[in-house]
Parts: sequence; structure tokens; C-alpha cells
Amino acid sequence: MAETTLPESKMPMVPPRILLGPGPSMVHPRVLQAMMSDMIGYLDPDFMLIMDEVSALLRRVFQTEESLTLALSGTGSAGMEAGLTSLLEPGDTAILCVHGFFSERIFDMAERVGANVVPLRELKKHTDVKLVTAIHAETSTGIKQPLQGLSRLAREHDALFMVDAVTSLGGNEVAVDEWDIDYCYSATQKCLACPPGLSPVALSPRAHEAIKSRKIKPTSWYLDLSLIANYWGFDHVYHHTAPVSMILALREGLRIALEEGLEARFQRHHRNAVALWAGLEALGLDLVAPEEYRLDQITPVWIPEGVDDDEVRRILLREYGIEVGRGLGQFAGKVWRIGMMGESSKAQYVLAVLSALEEILPRLGFEVPYGAGVGAASRSLAGG
Ligand code: PLP
Repeated sequence: MAETTLPESKMPMVPPRILLGPGPSMVHPRVLQAMMSDMIGYLDPDFMLIMDEVSALLRRVFQTEESLTLALSGTGSAGMEAGLTSLLEPGDTAILCVHGFFSERIFDMAERVGANVVPLRELKKHTDVKLVTAIHAETSTGIKQPLQGLSRLAREHDALFMVDAVTSLGGNEVAVDEWDIDYCYSATQKCLACPPGLSPVALSPRAHEAIKSRKIKPTSWYLDLSLIANYWGFDHVYHHTAPVSMILALREGLRIALEEGLEARFQRHHRNAVALWAGLEALGLDLVAPEEYRLDQITPVWIPEGVDDDEVRRILLREYGIEVGRGLGQFAGKVWRIGMMGESSKAQYVLAVLSALEEILPRLGFEVPYGAGVGAASRSLAGG
């Protein structure tokens, strides 16, 4: 006999959180409302109009007129894997700037494709390069990678240029046409203020041509960019069942970003980041990234000696409802990562996390000058 009663849920409601980690970040209420719209077929002519609108909005956010823009089903890693499996064939040489956890992921994926992956410093030894790839905003280190030099390098080698803009799109300038980027991928859950689930991408005509003239088909059918481009393109050829509600969410997230204005949005991220940095430093904490390469969206901060990493994050979550990120890769156990992306980049959250740290750190043996963090951040926010 089948059981008629449901097991008691241990967490029937999602508890409210202030999301100040590496993503997902806070979601705009308009985005959540958009997700509650009626269901519609993914080949419905009216849904096609919505997809075309999403493509057009993405073109503005990626700052491109030439590239085909679309949203892959899957998170940022799907964008990464789609690019590598579609642009590279076994034996191709790919040049990679290895400088953090996510570039190592690119390395791993490209090797699985059978490519010959070469670190940037060895570029001189290679003439036949198919792809140059870089992470624009490395979430594990909090470092921003300037892209123009790499773009020039790719052109000099007649190679395609692929950029990971998972953490930068919507929070930092990402100028696909101006920087000659052939394939750029991002994710919805960071500076675009949507839930995780889609990977917006921009594919240049050159990259599209390169995929069409491959010698062999990509090993992944699901992430074959040319097939997905046919669904998002003019003919809307069926590929797979599109995640309709997420596409509606993305449309709303993009509209909100463009209503704010890209430049105003970048400035907001910067203003709040500068205030956070001022507050953390006033508490006697050291930041990982040097100021000239520091990302506005995520700030890794060294954990002071003797302070328990897990305990600080546990108290922040349980007593203050604040999530911050843990260190990744070689930074595990050594840093906290405080994210201020999209809807999470607000003055009220800067002050909330600093005042919580001011209360928690002395409890765990690290004395801080009371009020100094919040004071420094408030001064910075007030333009002082
Ligand atoms: N690239 C960067 C720079 C990231 O920060 C992340 C995730 O945080 C990824 C790729 C992978 O994205 P996802 O976790 O959405 O698959």
C-alpha cells in the first residue's frame, strides 16, 4: 500500500537571506513576479517575440550589434562548456591565462575536448592557435583581467577570442564589439539579479562561421552552439524544451538593468565596493586583490589569524541572515568572499555586513575598533 501522508519537511519555507556571496545574489521582485506568469509553449509565436526581445536586450548589455545573442539552458559553466566544445576540435591549440579557480575549470574542459591547452606565457612557442581565452572577472581571487591586450594578441594569431563574463556582465563594462570578443558567456545569478539557470552568450559572426566549418561535430549535442543558434535565430528551429520561466525572468532582469542604465549600474557597483573596502580596512582586515585590479562585484578578504572561518560564516548566516562566500581552491579556509552584485550591491547591505562583522569578530578573539567599519563606509558613501 502506498503511503498517504507526506514526510514532514525539514525546511518548508525558504528562509530570508541577505545574499552577499559569489552568487546567487538577491533577485529583484519584478524578476520573481515575471517567473509567476502563465506557462507558454516554447515554440508559441508569442514566445518567439519574447525570445527576440531577450536577444535584443542582451545585445545592448553585451554592447554588440554584430553578435548573435541568446541564453543557453544551464548555468555559467554551460556557457563555458558550450564555447569550448563548439569552438575547439581535438588537437587544436588554445591559449589560456591561468590565474584562478575558474580558469582551471576552462583548462579541464578544454583538455576533455582533446585540445592542446597552453598557458599564456608559452604563447611564443606556438604559431597555430585556434582560441585565446580569459576570465574577465575571476570570482575566486577578486581580480579583474584587462581584455584589450589579449584581444590584440588573439587577432595577431588569427585566433578566436573567448571571454568568461560570468561575474562581470551587468556590473562591469563588457564591450563585445569594441574588444573584438568572438564568444562571451555569462550567468543570470550574479550582476543580472536573476535566479541561476541560464547562461547568456554572445557569438560573433566569425565564431559562428568557425563552428559551421568544423571538420567534426562537437561531442556535445546539447551544448552545440550552432544548433542552439538555430533555435534562437530567425527560423526558431526546435532544439530542446526551453526553460520558459527563466527566459521570462531574464527578460525582466535585462529590462531593469537597462532602465537603470549600464553606466549608472557600473557606478553603483563601484560606489558600494569602495565603501565596503574602506569599512573592511578600517576594521583592520586585509583585502586580497591589489586596488588597481580589484573587482567591484566580489571582495576576497584575508581571514585574520586565529579566527575560525566556518564559525564567522555560521554566525553571519544564523544570527544575521547574511551569506558570504568561502575561499575557493588555494584560498580555501584563508579568505571570505563578500559579493556585491546586482540587487546585492546596495549601501544598506554594505553597512549590514560591516556592522555584523564588528560585533562578531571580537567575540571570536579579533578586536576591532567599534564603529570604525560602519563609520568609514558611511563616510565613503557620503562622498567623503
Ligand atoms: N566563471 C566564473 C568566473 C564564475 O565565477 C563561475 C561561478 O561562480 C563560473 C564560471 C561557473 O558558473 P556556474 O556556477 O553558474 O556554472
